[in-house]
Amino acid sequence: MNIAVIGAGYVGATTSVSFALRGHTVFAIDHDKEKIGKLKQASLPFYEEEIDGLVKKLAGNGKLSFTTQLDECIDKCSILFITVGTPSLMGGQADLSFVEEVARNIGNLMNEYRVIVLKSTVPVGTNAKIKKLIINELTKRNLKIPFDLISNPEFLREGKALYDALHPDRIVIGCETQKAQKMMKELYGHAKSKILFTSPIDAEMIKYASNAFLAAKISFINELARFCEKIGANVTEVAKGMGMDSRIGAQFLQAGIGYGGSCFPKDISALLALASENGIPLNILQAVLQVNQTQPEWFLEKVKKTLGTLSGKRIAILGLTFKPRTDDIREAPSLKIIDYLLQNNAYITAYDPKGTEHVKKIYPSITYTSNPLDALKKADAVLLITEWEEIIDMDWKAALNTVSAPFVFDGRNALDASVMKQLGYHYEGIGMPEF
Ligand code: NAD
Repeated sequence: MNIAVIGAGYVGATTSVSFALRGHTVFAIDHDKEKIGKLKQASLPFYEEEIDGLVKKLAGNGKLSFTTQLDECIDKCSILFITVGTPSLMGGQADLSFVEEVARNIGNLMNEYRVIVLKSTVPVGTNAKIKKLIINELTKRNLKIPFDLISNPEFLREGKALYDALHPDRIVIGCETQKAQKMMKELYGHAKSKILFTSPIDAEMIKYASNAFLAAKISFINELARFCEKIGANVTEVAKGMGMDSRIGAQFLQAGIGYGGSCFPKDISALLALASENGIPLNILQAVLQVNQTQPEWFLEKVKKTLGTLSGKRIAILGLTFKPRTDDIREAPSLKIIDYLLQNNAYITAYDPKGTEHVKKIYPSITYTSNPLDALKKADAVLLITEWEEIIDMDWKAALNTVSAPFVFDGRNALDASVMKQLGYHYEGIGMPEF
């Protein structure tokens, strides 16, 4: 099949590569000329290890091309994916302006039946609105071209994006006609994943509900961690015991400094905003948000208590991205940590394998190093913020000779507490008795 993917960001580029790998011919489109310029040079505008290298290969064999011009591709492609961003507005609602712009463009350019697939995460009810918008544009051109608008939410995880795109746990397809269903079966037929055909509105809700549930697991264990710490229990052991129950499952039960990233924070805000507009308060989700917003501060209060003060202290931050194996810093807890430390007059030295350049644009005045050990030079305390393997596996013994004081605060419970203690560190994790 010939496929157009509109919006060549994380999701769009990954979707394009995954369909091209399956033998389809893919046109990845973005209005950002710089991004398309880079992609044409086979340079990804973000870090995703598995994809690097594939773009060049797929472009070389003609399976994948990049353009800013939808008009050049629309007649060639039977399926058009919309993968543009849906960031948060001030009130927490999703900003649909990019999706609407693309829908208008499609309505302006489409000349025959097309399957349009809405992959961007959009509020429940958006499919119906976008459908009307496209019909409106066609009516302006005095045309009555049939089309199907499918809601096919994306569940990939940054850092494992290509694997997830190629082997999704499940594929959710909200569609209303047999014809569109048949095309989607053909498109995804190769995948061994379970496919759920449902209505567009349910597909939209499934995406938000899934992210809300995962965020709830994280906030649940984080709040419990505060209690465990107070009462002398170890949240890691508690989570392990809970996770052994197949009804609960072990994933997303790792206590830490909270979730961030391009999806959970904005999707939870959008769901809360939509529920509130509809007069249904989502109390559990409100609490999920509240716990997440206060978790970095709770962590830093611990640091402050142990050190006595943060003022004038040299703090080493290890890890800046919202999770390992990505360069994404959107809503990363590290940003809140930096803000708090600066407000408390601490001196910061930071290291991250991939996210430094992005953070430097926001905080140009703090010191950045090119390896983790250098960040620890003369540090009064070390904060582990993102659990990159390189950081976990660094030579913590050698680091003892570099730091000014042996305080390690592990915001991800990524290090082995007893090993750290044996090495001579004062180690504090999240939700565990002090070592
Ligand atoms: P992104 O910001 O990385 O990419 C969006 C791209 O859309 C940008 O390159 C932008 O230039 C382009 N764009 C915007 N308007 C356009 C237009 N009119 N025409 C052409 N291109 C346009 O965003 P992303 O992280 O890829 O997310 C895209 C959507 O997928 C969002 O709704 C997000 O919530 C959802 N999603 C993201 C992830 C993730 O891990 N990033 C996972 C699942 C779902």
